[in-house]
Amino acid sequence: MYANIIIDISHEKVDKLFQYKIPPALFHQVETGVQVWIPFGAGNQKRKGYVVELTKKAEYDPQRIKEIIGIVEGSVTAETQLIQLAWWMKERYGSTMNQALKTVLPVKQKVRQKEKRDLVCLLTKQDLQSALEEANKKGYQARARLLKAFSDNPVVPYTVAVNQMNLTMATIKPMVEKQMVSLESETLYRNPSISQKHEGKLVVLNDQQEMIVQDFISRYDRQIRETSLIYGITGSGKTEVYLEMIDHVLNQNKQVIVLIPEIALTYQTVLRFYRRFGNQVSVINSKMSAGERYDQFERARTAQVKIMIGPRSALFTPFPSLGLIIMDEEHEGAYKSELSPRYHAREVAEKLSCMNLASLVLGSATPSLEAFSMGLKGRFRLYRLTRRAKENSQIAKVQVVDLREELKAGNKSIFSQALKEAMEERLKHGQQTMLFLNRRGYASFVSCRSCGQALKCPHCDVTLTLHRGDHLKCHYCGYEISMPQRCPSCGSPYIAGFGTGTQKIEYLTKRLFPEARVLRMDLDTTSKKGGHEEILSSFAEGGSDILIGTQMIVKGHDFPNVTLVGVLAADLSLYSSDFRCGERTFQLLTQAAGRAGRDKQSGTVIIQTYNPDHYSISCAASQDYESFYHKEMAFREVLRYPPVSQLLSVMMAGKEEEVLNQAAAQIHQWVLSMAEGRQVELIGPTEATIYKVNDIYRKILYLKQENYGILIDIKNRLEDLSPKAPWFSQVMIQYDFA
Ligand code: ADP
Ligand code: ZN
Ligand code: ZN
Repeated sequence: MYANIIIDISHEKVDKLFQYKIPPALFHQVETGVQVWIPFGAGNQKRKGYVVELTKKAEYDPQRIKEIIGIVEGSVTAETQLIQLAWWMKERYGSTMNQALKTVLPVKQKVRQKEKRDLVCLLTKQDLQSALEEANKKGYQARARLLKAFSDNPVVPYTVAVNQMNLTMATIKPMVEKQMVSLESETLYRNPSISQKHEGKLVVLNDQQEMIVQDFISRYDRQIRETSLIYGITGSGKTEVYLEMIDHVLNQNKQVIVLIPEIALTYQTVLRFYRRFGNQVSVINSKMSAGERYDQFERARTAQVKIMIGPRSALFTPFPSLGLIIMDEEHEGAYKSELSPRYHAREVAEKLSCMNLASLVLGSATPSLEAFSMGLKGRFRLYRLTRRAKENSQIAKVQVVDLREELKAGNKSIFSQALKEAMEERLKHGQQTMLFLNRRGYASFVSCRSCGQALKCPHCDVTLTLHRGDHLKCHYCGYEISMPQRCPSCGSPYIAGFGTGTQKIEYLTKRLFPEARVLRMDLDTTSKKGGHEEILSSFAEGGSDILIGTQMIVKGHDFPNVTLVGVLAADLSLYSSDFRCGERTFQLLTQAAGRAGRDKQSGTVIIQTYNPDHYSISCAASQDYESFYHKEMAFREVLRYPPVSQLLSVMMAGKEEEVLNQAAAQIHQWVLSMAEGRQVELIGPTEATIYKVNDIYRKILYLKQENYGILIDIKNRLEDLSPKAPWFSQVMIQYDFA
């Protein structure tokens, strides 16, 4: 037996593996992640290294491979765990160990020892109030943002001010000069009196919230470690529940990871954690430099900070004693990595909490089918929050508009009569409107403007994808037809590729309401650093009447003055070649509806659609998650999609179509023989949704089977067989568990 060892445990050096023999006496102790003593280099200096992989295969002449000296005693470190986690991810998702290590280990890069600084408010409560009023009056928006933050917490970390609040020195410097603010290095003020200045509980939990917190605490104290799912409608107070759970776990001297999808990781959200836990909180996001992230991770390693908030990569925070992982908006697609290893943060979080004897708490208003079915089965502890938490806060009224009827009535505009009138009303009363376009699957499908049917595959119940404007294809089974002249269901000639961009909607809105102040938020307008935050705060401060946007505008924001949400074409996300499109549509619509009337004013949601009867739309309109769940689950059952069955896709890619076809045929052959007698359903190999990308052709083979282990076994055997095939150097293979 041999062990592959890394000496320098940092992201950049993981390729440098050194192979050592495992002496028989150590067979039982050497495993992945263990730290060992090895003789290194020409002088055989004794050094420490981490075991990354065990193998039977000698990389070079076995005579010349040195032996491990011994195990480093008491050496279970955060790295040990991360390496074990990397190993698990490699096995589970199919990637190289190298890719897996690069995913979990931090990029070691010191920040130029820029001291960590904070902005500290020097004003009394009264002065702060008048300064805020003055800033608002004079239109100093950036200054007002900082002052408003100070009214919640007198200490704002400099990085938060710059990255999340979008402030620059041009705003901060004059405030320092006027002695409103001081900019202090953290070591200076990091004394107990300030760091304990957080305000503790700000709300009294209602009975539903209290019940969950008490149940969690009592089980945690009885050492029960498990996964729970909080299914709570939008605004039901999930975050307050998390805060209490975190508080309890911190008191046990443990640390906490809080996952929040990047898109919802706004200043508003983060502030609630700062307010409660002060400097114990740290945040990472994808805009940070490698050095900044490394710095945050180092602070976590030494438990200087005890709560790490961030997107899925925050999972790899090297806390010494992790006690709890919270995963908010558990259903979010962004929790799945699109880079190899293609891991899902929910599954990695489960694994990680097991390894650490920590608990995992998932939360969502629209849980993934995976999580909710686990909840119903009792595998996860299921909690419900069924009411809005804030007093007087009402659930929005939802109206569904049938666009087929609008067309019949001669209205060809993108605004239905009802939406147009509702928008006029809001403008008249100085209230705000959000227009939401769920653009996923944009223009790639064909639908009928008379009957609303999208053209679907007869075998798979997914939408056919339009290719080069003239033929239609199913990406799950390869079924193909040429573009029909008339709608197959009603015979209408009005069928076409479907879709409208946000820019066009902005133009049409301005044309319809020339006096309205319109703001657009999409990838184009938010690409610069802080653009996202800037648009949202401008809208929150009343800087415009109408905000137009894609999914970005519906996540994690509280706009008290928004009383109307218009969904322009709810069907847009319904037709894509992804079997989860119904689920996504329901989630987006429910979330959009949750934006209206979060405060005392009641809100209205208008959903425009060609398919008012589709359950993803009708259940969202009646805000009935559980009906949706059962209908969608029935669909998954019939077609054996996850979570009913497991789905493994094997993606093969290559420059030479001919070679790719050979590889696909061979892999298909192998899988057929491996699958024999094991009830594996095969689909394909078929061309990928986008067959050719950058001159590389891609084919996919799908495998369905309820038993995950069988799919993993097939994957492992394919990984073993492929390198021996003649085409191996020309075809890249990627595994993806849906
Ligand atoms: P969710 O995370 O479920 O969307 P939040 O935790 O953000 O819900 O709560 C929604 C709003 O209700 C917030 O403004 C929050 O401060 C408030 N809130 C939460 N719990 C309570 C409570 N028990 N009493 C009063 N207000 C509450
Ligand atoms: Zn039709
Ligand atoms: Zn099909």
